[in-house]
Amino acid sequence: MNIQMVDVKSQYLKIKDQIDSGIQEVLNNTAFINGPKVKQFQEEFEAYLDVKHVIPCANGTDALQIAMMAMGLRPGDEVIVPAFTYVATAEVIALLGLVPVMVDVDYDTFNISLIGIKNAITAKTKAIVPVHLFGQSADMESILKIAEDNNLFVIEDNAQAIGSDYMFDDGRKAKAGTLGHIGCTSFYPSKNLGCYGDGGAIMTNDDKLGVLLHKIANHGQSVRYYHDVVGCNSRLDSIQAVVLSAKLPHLDDYCNARIQVANFYDNAFAEIDQIETPHRAHYTTHVFHQYTLKVKDGKRDDLKKYLDDQKIPSMIYYPVPLYKQEAFKDSSNGLENLAMTELLCKEVISLPIHTEMDQEQLKFISEKVMAFFNK
Ligand SMILES: *Cc1c(COP(=O)(O)O)cnc(C)c1O
Repeated sequence: MNIQMVDVKSQYLKIKDQIDSGIQEVLNNTAFINGPKVKQFQEEFEAYLDVKHVIPCANGTDALQIAMMAMGLRPGDEVIVPAFTYVATAEVIALLGLVPVMVDVDYDTFNISLIGIKNAITAKTKAIVPVHLFGQSADMESILKIAEDNNLFVIEDNAQAIGSDYMFDDGRKAKAGTLGHIGCTSFYPSKNLGCYGDGGAIMTNDDKLGVLLHKIANHGQSVRYYHDVVGCNSRLDSIQAVVLSAKLPHLDDYCNARIQVANFYDNAFAEIDQIETPHRAHYTTHVFHQYTLKVKDGKRDDLKKYLDDQKIPSMIYYPVPLYKQEAFKDSSNGLENLAMTELLCKEVISLPIHTEMDQEQLKFISEKVMAFFNK
């Protein structure tokens, strides 16, 4: 059986006609950069997220960098990030001469720990970057409260949870990525809303920040050749915008297909004591960018090897805490041995999950996992 972690090809074939004709249209009119297709996707995405400003850009890492640049921070300022995340989150902070302060995560949700944040705040702290890891939002209501009490910016790294809803205590609902001062996302092909190359976007409901973010992404200019601030060059190209416009109307279905896969796995693994299935927080929908198990008793690496032998792909997101990465030896703040981060790096394993999985594949994978645990 041919099983993949993600199946971008089969998903493409279902909307091939629309995508092919859209790309052909761009080729015909040659508006490759900043053409009407980019503007169109921007507006569609603003409507979907119910957010005032979307700033399309070249990739998710750029989105984070541009968000950091818009905060007007100074070298040495501290930015709090989870230690258990993809490198991009902390990388852009270090790149700008700011200090990534890496804190522990919550064992259940994999998301940044509230106590970790509180303990890390100093006079130099300027911002918090919660990462909505694996497809569910961090505890944003509490994080926004901590930020407000301490006068901090909140930049959401929403590369993995696009489409996820957040429910506030008072019943209000909003999309992950539109909750903080700025949200960032990635359209890398394997993300829940992926294009066919690199792409990203920045979101904000703040009009002033909206103008500034657009400006920074475009060489610091609003009027051509008049540069108000130091910016960068970060654009979504028209061909990627066509792909995203074709896929956006299906995003909720894509998320639901992932949730169905997660439900199947949850049921299949319910009886296995040595694995813990993903926890679903009450304040957010989980859109399962990844389906990540925790494997107890030091069995994770053996399970991985067993699945490899059965030709079932699996991934370890993430094997090493950020503060143990050589790259951050000098630039982070020296926090180490964060208990939950260390434990999760040893226990996690992500199974195949995507929009095109069928029952046969799911049965095959779950039976093999159960067989490993003698079930
Ligand atoms: C994918 C990802 C990014 C970076 O996105 P790119 O488009 O690859 O630059 C940032 N943060 C997280 C959590 C991601 O998963």
